[in-house]
Amino acid sequence: MTLPDIATCAEPAPLRQRGQHEVFCGLTSIIWLHRKVQDAFFLVVGSRTCAHLLQSAAGVMIFSEPRFATAIMEERDLAGMADMHDELDGVVARLLERRPDIRMLVLVGSCPSEVIKFDLTRAATRLNARHAPRHRVIAYSGSGIETTFTQGEDNFLAALVADKATSRPAGAAAKLVVAGCLADVVEDQFARLFSELGLTGVVFLPGRDAINGLCVGPETRFILAQPYLGATAAALEARGARRIDAIFPLGAEGTSAWLRAICAAFRVDPARFDAVVAQPKRRAAAAMAHYRPWLQARRVFFFPDSQMEPSLARFLSREMGVALLEVGSPYLHREHVAGELALLPAGVTISEGQDVDRQIDRCRAANPDLIVCGLGLANPFEAEGRVSKWSIEFSFTPIQGFEQAGDLAELFARPLMRHAILTGGADRREAAR
Ligand code: SF4
Repeated sequence: MTLPDIATCAEPAPLRQRGQHEVFCGLTSIIWLHRKVQDAFFLVVGSRTCAHLLQSAAGVMIFSEPRFATAIMEERDLAGMADMHDELDGVVARLLERRPDIRMLVLVGSCPSEVIKFDLTRAATRLNARHAPRHRVIAYSGSGIETTFTQGEDNFLAALVADKATSRPAGAAAKLVVAGCLADVVEDQFARLFSELGLTGVVFLPGRDAINGLCVGPETRFILAQPYLGATAAALEARGARRIDAIFPLGAEGTSAWLRAICAAFRVDPARFDAVVAQPKRRAAAAMAHYRPWLQARRVFFFPDSQMEPSLARFLSREMGVALLEVGSPYLHREHVAGELALLPAGVTISEGQDVDRQIDRCRAANPDLIVCGLGLANPFEAEGRVSKWSIEFSFTPIQGFEQAGDLAELFARPLMRHAILTGGADRREAAR
């Protein structure tokens, strides 16, 4: 892997804590997955709590007949008075009759379905026998017992790889799989760059179409576009694909390093690489420069949320001049984020897992200029006069690639700008003009 200069950086030892934690469960990733994969329907097998979570996370999307729903388990299901498999078969039959456009039905496990050991993989096999080839059925777990937020996407992609790899003909394997859900606009930009670099046989996972496209073989190389894909990487490796190691495509530096690693793996002429990325890199630098006065030397504290925190922190520290206080992540995949951790400045606290009360105490004591955290903590911090950035936005907003580097910087700068406007502080506004 080609990394920028890391001579001045040291790998910090993470602080590991277990206790009360304030994070989403893996079901939440359905909100962006169902928008991306346009022929799939996500059916959560869970409780009213799960349905309420999806409703509140999806916001106004629930009024647009979205491609997700919850099959709610009632008391009689939990008490064993009804056969869960029969009940599910009935729900699925009614759903597919009403929505014949569904090509792939995804059964998503939840805490209640896992606690009563309802085997959704077995249910998917049985439903496939009944509804194939018109509808394909797969299953994965998004429960809060097993998954945190973005890990839901990881489990979905791993299930997709395990399912599709066996069902495609040999000989048509992808040369490069880009794993990790990217907004359509970002996918299109990367596809254009790959074509300018002369790379062919590139497949995005997930694509917009769940049914077609993926074949993995021993000649396939894959690169992660998101840092939370441990199970997906393992599933791809189990099929013989080999990972290209890189930092993640956030900011101009991250995007360059990510593309350079791909080019090195496919022996693209370095001069061609430089020529292709020169212009977009310049545009990214110009867009980021606009927000640097707002972020330079600001002290930022990250609470754990999506596993994207080390990459976001690296971007802020190296490209925007931010001083990092603590970088929290729900889980650190040592191998996949090694490059990111090596690029964080010496002395920064890296924390894995959470004991939320102790972390809040550390945050208050550090008194940061900006706190990156979930909505459950954001407003209470704001009420204390602190400035917060709601972290879920980094999962919903297109932030990867050169053209989004300015937008990514803006996401961090905006709360500081708003605070300056509301409190009459004009210093950095003047600087930014
Ligand atoms: S899966 Fe578990 S944590 Fe998530 S909403 Fe359902 S009950 Fe809550």
